Amino acid sequence: MVSGPLPTGGDIHGHDHDHDSGHLTDVALRVRALESLLIEKGYVDPAALDAIVETYETKIGPRNGARVVARSWVDPDYREWLLDDATAAIKSLGYAGRQGEHMVAVENTGAVHNLVVCTLCSCYPLPVLGLPPVWYKSAPYRSRAVIDPRGVLAEFGVSLPPETKIRVWDSTAEIRYLVVPMRPAGTDGWSEERLASLVTRDSMIGAGLAIDPRSLAAEGRA
Ligand code: FE
Repeated sequence: MVSGPLPTGGDIHGHDHDHDSGHLTDVALRVRALESLLIEKGYVDPAALDAIVETYETKIGPRNGARVVARSWVDPDYREWLLDDATAAIKSLGYAGRQGEHMVAVENTGAVHNLVVCTLCSCYPLPVLGLPPVWYKSAPYRSRAVIDPRGVLAEFGVSLPPETKIRVWDSTAEIRYLVVPMRPAGTDGWSEERLASLVTRDSMIGAGLAIDPRSLAAEGRA
């Protein structure tokens, strides 16, 4: 997958929410200093911190979201529920928690393609997608997704028909979006699990499409 197509650097605003690479070292140093101090004073247990990091790195990730999408592809009732009350529909599959309290699912169709950004910082639906990719937090993505979404999509290798409208959703601390990509053609009768394997992280941000099984076949991977 394309993971860093946008130019980095440039404009650094320096407000609290900025996650530009120029700030990361400074932030990392401050986090380390704070963590050392808290551990030294006995306020936090380093093993508990490791467990939280481990959870986000290995247990919570885009496979969760992929299962939600695959279920919506095979079960019309679930799809309707997801579009109506994503928080509850996602929770029913066991995915809930921090930054997933107010979920909204937006579905891609031939008429509309949805793209998610957080223009202010890096708000992201952690329970279904795990930790955000670096480019999602970059200043160029955050500004250009709004100004030139079609150009941004092109850099991710996504070219949509001119008649497809692009709708950009700005995540906030309150609402987190999950894009439901279109189900690829040629997948009739596929199991939910097999379908889930076609749902990439980027496709659930709207920066990609679900994997077309014909492209896998062409590469000899199907
Ligand atoms: Fe944010």
